[in-house]
Amino acid sequence: MEQLIRSKWLEILEHVKNEYSITEVCYKTWLLPLEIYSVNESEESAIICVNDEELGENSKNHIQKKYNILLQIAIEEITGYHLTLEYKNKSELEKNNGGASRTKTNTRKNLSFNLNDKYTFDTFVVGNNNNFAHAAALAVAESPLQSEFNPLFIYGGPGLGKTHLIHSIAHYIIENSPELQVLYTTSEQYINEIVNAIRNSKQDRTTLNNIKRKYREVDVLMIDDVQFIIGKDITQEEFFNTFNTLYEQGKQIILTSDKHPNQMEKLEERYKSRFNWGLPVDIKAPEYETRLAILRKKEEKEGIKLGEEILKFIAENIKTNIRDLEGAYNKLILRSKLQHCDITLDTAIEDIKDLILTNEKMKITNDYIINIVVEHYGLTLEEINSKNRSQKVANVRQICMYLCRKITNSSYEEIGSNLGNRDRTTVMHGYNKIDDDLKKDAALQNEIDILMKIINHQ
Ligand code: ADP
Ligand code: MG
Repeated sequence: MEQLIRSKWLEILEHVKNEYSITEVCYKTWLLPLEIYSVNESEESAIICVNDEELGENSKNHIQKKYNILLQIAIEEITGYHLTLEYKNKSELEKNNGGASRTKTNTRKNLSFNLNDKYTFDTFVVGNNNNFAHAAALAVAESPLQSEFNPLFIYGGPGLGKTHLIHSIAHYIIENSPELQVLYTTSEQYINEIVNAIRNSKQDRTTLNNIKRKYREVDVLMIDDVQFIIGKDITQEEFFNTFNTLYEQGKQIILTSDKHPNQMEKLEERYKSRFNWGLPVDIKAPEYETRLAILRKKEEKEGIKLGEEILKFIAENIKTNIRDLEGAYNKLILRSKLQHCDITLDTAIEDIKDLILTNEKMKITNDYIINIVVEHYGLTLEEINSKNRSQKVANVRQICMYLCRKITNSSYEEIGSNLGNRDRTTVMHGYNKIDDDLKKDAALQNEIDILMKIINHQ
């Protein structure tokens, strides 16, 4: 329960903001700085820490009065747990925290909110394509502050398991070294944070300073897809300053990228060498045996069995990467669930022929785009195809509509048929909505820009 609530905390706060139309400034001032201090599972209660050092000691009462019920509802809607919340000031908690009154898990200040619970070492299949990267990742996870890999730089093409592996490391350290502060972020979030802070720094420097501090005070900094930071001048400079500070203090840095540092064209020489200080480790495309092992592992977890013949058919035909492999598998499972039918080799061939075509010709199809977007936001194909209208699912669905239209130029009808048979007006509305939002939302622009790059393998 505690881990679930912690991992969903940011989502809970965002839910409050969106559902109750909280303004950006109120959200940033009151909600975003709130932290879960501890959760008492048996009493179904939690202590929320209020940063009184920044907000003043009376802010606690204000937050309680104004946001308590909203937070309770959001927690219940997102995690299913009904909790009584108590608010305490940070200074008060720190004062009381001299002794052993807090349990080990409570001392953990988990800054890594957006980790996918499914991406762990247990679910990561090791093959010839990734065994060295896996071994290095595990070594770093076991002794983060004494590893020979600093930075640990994991690189490889799209869909080969970089994100899965870096999340596995984060989960492992959070679980086994709770005294360490681990901060995992994607470069997309990092860019948004820095750019926003810099934009606001003319009126208020505290945000920028807080962000600088936040990144420089951790024990382990993990950034996924660091290639997107390279070439973005201000963010890149800020990133390397943080990198240096952490490195000098012997803190662990873990990065993933689509390329080896030496192949990153926009990266200056002096920076290339920093990425090379630790040993860059690569992940390659998996061989047939590994592809089959990955499918078997997935089948083990799913209730529905496709059978060896179909698994072998998928493994033989989908060769590009694991994301496509899973995409084919998920498509079959989804059909069987929706239509309550068994899957035969013939129907499987029919169902995934598009994906095989994608494989050979590298043609970008709607299914392919949807897979990438869904995974990027940590949702499932089932949610996107369903009638679920929660803000997040609806928004991601609209992003799918927008990107499909932009990239494949398919008709609205066709895109609708790829998204749980939605009609053309829904798709058109979704497309226009994102198109409008893009004009006023720099963070969304950055997200779409990065998704386009991922989809086009740039
Ligand atoms: P990347 O970040 O390199 O683009 P991801 O880590 O997102 O790739 O992997 C794409 C999908 O493939 C994810 O759903 C992930 O769980 C799965 N995957 C990748 N590598 C493995 C592996 N070795 N074992 C099991 N699943 C894997
Ligand atoms: Mg990734």
